[in-house]
Amino acid sequence: MFDLARVRSDFPILAREVHGQPLVYFDNAATSQKPTRVIESISDYYDRYNSNVHRGVHTLSGEATDAYEGARVRIGRWFGVEDPGEVILLRGATEALNLVANTLVDSLKPGDVILVGETEHHANIVPWQQLEARIGVRVIPIPVDPSGALSLESAKTLCSEHPVAVIAVGHVSNAIGALNDVQGFVTLAQENQAYSVIDGAQAAPHMMVNVKELNADFYAVSAHKCCGPTGIGVLLGRRDLLERLPPWQGGGDMIDRVSFSGTTYNELPWKFEAGTPNIADTIGFATALDYLESIDFKGAVEHEHRVHSHLTEAMLSRDKVDVLGHPNHWVSVCSFNVKGAHPTDVGTLLDQLGIAVRTGHHCAMPTMEHFGLPGTARASVAFYNSIEEVDHFLEALDRVIGMLTD
Ligand code: PLP
Repeated sequence: MFDLARVRSDFPILAREVHGQPLVYFDNAATSQKPTRVIESISDYYDRYNSNVHRGVHTLSGEATDAYEGARVRIGRWFGVEDPGEVILLRGATEALNLVANTLVDSLKPGDVILVGETEHHANIVPWQQLEARIGVRVIPIPVDPSGALSLESAKTLCSEHPVAVIAVGHVSNAIGALNDVQGFVTLAQENQAYSVIDGAQAAPHMMVNVKELNADFYAVSAHKCCGPTGIGVLLGRRDLLERLPPWQGGGDMIDRVSFSGTTYNELPWKFEAGTPNIADTIGFATALDYLESIDFKGAVEHEHRVHSHLTEAMLSRDKVDVLGHPNHWVSVCSFNVKGAHPTDVGTLLDQLGIAVRTGHHCAMPTMEHFGLPGTARASVAFYNSIEEVDHFLEALDRVIGMLTD
């Protein structure tokens, strides 16, 4: 059973103070905190079996290889992917999305249309724009509806009007927290013989995701949003597609044989993993998923949902606060502005009261442009946050509103 007090004690950072106040960490959409178990798994690797993977015959290299490849299997299984060849370990969701855009280059032709959600993180916009400049595909945004979710109906219309070759959408938007109908977008892509690319960076830490059930062609995940370390993430892709795609970066590990008369490439997944991988953090990522399983993840998600509902209901009822969007399915985030105040001032004053929120465009400038805003303040909760922390945040926000608007 999910036990909040026990879970909070697993995260040493939650006990610290900021400016003499107990820390309230509401910046989980930027990165999550890490439990002791994850931190220890990383130092344990360096303490006991630090070694390069794959080519060593000595004991340490064997242990590191087993731990690294075992972590790959663990990570895949969490997302419903049994074939380790479909689990490509990369630097994060950004690198995963760049890999897809760069390796699809030979599968697309000038004039093909890439539909990209209007509320995407820049990581799921810019690689497609770079492809547009490089090979003449066209990037068209899928409009956001008034609630803050991407409009599947608009995407259907766009598919009837254009030769759509890729549909790239976020599972959950990081600036609004809207849960998009990704199943609908995957099906739409299939109906149009287009590739489906899902940015799962904001979904994975807040719900169980089964990529095989979703049947997406590509699904990108970031470990540091899921209680794992920074600098590691995963691209989950369909084997038949990954086999057809060319390697992206060249170097060690991704080759089969190198000769000046011709080079051949390794099999999946290593074909896409050039160079020494991030061994320690891959192990840390797998440990984070073990941790999530151990705390009753389903119970954790239910608890987080209660905390988030408490937050959003209170925010929506405040006259002096504008909340960005009001999606039917709303995850972790509450993006807001205090009327007449700049979000940076709101964030700075909240920090003085021990509360960490993010301010600015959240790497989603088109979202801000759509709503005609320079930016927002964004509170984002995780399963280790409490109702009491929300109440503390609301009291602090009311003080800040008083300071900025009276
Ligand atoms: N996509 C979304 C929706 C995000 O929120 C983020 C991180 O903020 C990213 C992509 C980038 O992920 P990473 O930090 O793993 O590169």
